[in-house]
Amino acid sequence: MKIIAPGRDCIGWSREFDCTGKGNEGIGCNARLLVEEADIWFYVVNNSWGRETFYSFICPLCGCMTDISHSLISGETMDHIRKRCEETAKVSYVRAQADKVKTLRLANRKKQQE
Ligand SMILES: [Zn+2]
Repeated sequence: MKIIAPGRDCIGWSREFDCTGKGNEGIGCNARLLVEEADIWFYVVNNSWGRETFYSFICPLCGCMTDISHSLISGETMDHIRKRCEETAKVSYVRAQADKVKTLRLANRKKQQE
């Protein structure tokens, strides 16, 4: 393999996670991913028992959403993520992003098969 153009280093906090679909639809593809701050979505769900907040990432391979335990993210990182996601902190928006990844993924797979 040859590097055509090097990418950047991870910015800010990052950690390895498996794509499991935890807390969401689907079981994930079990890929091991290096998830960085910018990959995480923050959103709020108002349940009958109150307000719940979630930090999740969307797998670039299968489009599955996986929730991350709050205890695995530092308070400072949570602040950064919340600030970035303030305008989009709705589960419907984040699910739509996941659906976009899934649709792209399926279209690419079809192209490869043709
Ligand atoms: Zn996946």
